[in-house]
Amino acid sequence: MTFSELKLTRQFLNAIKDAGYTEPSPIQIKAIPPLRSGQDVIGIAQTGTGKTAAFLLPLLQNLKYAQHNDPRALILAPTKELALQIHQEALKFAAYTDLRILALYGGIGPKTQIEKLKTGCDLVICTPGRFIELYSHGHIQTKHIKQLVLDEADRMMDMGFMPQLRQIQEIIPNKRQNMLFSATFPARVERLADEFLLWPTRIEVTPQSTPVETVRQMKLELPNLRTKIAFIEWWITHHLNDKRLLIFTRKKEEAENLARYLQRSFDFEIRTIHSNKGQNSRINAMDDFRSGLVKVLVSTDVASRGIDVPETEMVINASVPRDPHEYVHRIGRTGRAFRDGTALTLNDPAERYALERIETLVGGPLEEITAPESLEEFETPKYERQIQAREIDGELRKRDPNYKGAFHEKKKKGSKGKSSRSKRKPRK
Ligand code: AMP
Repeated sequence: MTFSELKLTRQFLNAIKDAGYTEPSPIQIKAIPPLRSGQDVIGIAQTGTGKTAAFLLPLLQNLKYAQHNDPRALILAPTKELALQIHQEALKFAAYTDLRILALYGGIGPKTQIEKLKTGCDLVICTPGRFIELYSHGHIQTKHIKQLVLDEADRMMDMGFMPQLRQIQEIIPNKRQNMLFSATFPARVERLADEFLLWPTRIEVTPQSTPVETVRQMKLELPNLRTKIAFIEWWITHHLNDKRLLIFTRKKEEAENLARYLQRSFDFEIRTIHSNKGQNSRINAMDDFRSGLVKVLVSTDVASRGIDVPETEMVINASVPRDPHEYVHRIGRTGRAFRDGTALTLNDPAERYALERIETLVGGPLEEITAPESLEEFETPKYERQIQAREIDGELRKRDPNYKGAFHEKKKKGSKGKSSRSKRKPRK
């Protein structure tokens, strides 16, 4: 199958050629024909499958050329990074057209975006909150919108955007074409699809939540955070070379601490990316990672969404995501664009359970590796031991409601909390 067999016009075939794509990916083969013919489509596909081009190409081809002042197509994305990434792709594919494409997102003042809107646009790519904000101040007219894309719908729901999505649904014309893309398809996304789409064609390129096949997935159990950091130091020293390494943590503080620790050992720059960072610093971090100026980037889950650096060879999970779907997103940052990648998950004893859930989701155990002999193993500090014990207790109690946790047993002996609670008068 070739792109021209998908009945794309010359302008787009030229842009595809410039992008260096030789053949359409499976999601593109399946999604482009129904989208070209105006149908609603649900695409279940992870990042890395080529899903962005799958919806952008027919959408841009439908828009054809610049018309009116107001947008005729709206793409909604959960984060600014993803909005910017879609914007970049859209500009690339629209290079041989006069279409006007804008990215509108929060985190910076709206002034420049309002100025740009005034000059006219055909397609807007927005985060839901900023779209509502601009609409409610009269800066966006919606009456010409005829195409709507909900990208990473599962993520938008996780981030609590449902009220904004409902509001947007009410202010855009009913007669329109809809596309919904999601890496996973849990019941809540299905309900969203029911609300927004009409008789959609459902397309799935990989079984639900199966990580891209090009990623080699490994795991290594280490006793605590300090030892994990020592391992990452060892890995960078022995294996980084010219590679690009993306490290994931669960929280922003963890990302900052980890980067600070690592920075002490290396003379090249280690950058962080998370939701506390300003817009510019996030864009710069990503650009520098893309260009290779920064080879090690530490990111949290929220910031991970828009990272599209096909050269990322290695992902290290410094902590195990508690939601197994998040794991799929994280490792989807490597092995992209049809290249091979490696993902290594470092888990402490308490994270074993979260790792088991991931293994169930991906359909088998991750490949276990052993620590290098030279790796120094650090003592687990008391506070970290307590956190681990509490988490293990929580997990075991979930499995067996009668389980009396070791950690809580101990606490009970000298516990003031318990006795003072029992003294409290019952509420009337
Ligand atoms: P996506 O799944 O849309 O995030 O795309 C992942 C990466 O694959 C991006 O870097 C795209 O530029 C690239 N890509 C998309 N379609 C193709 C294709 N048909 N051939 C080669 N690369 C592609």
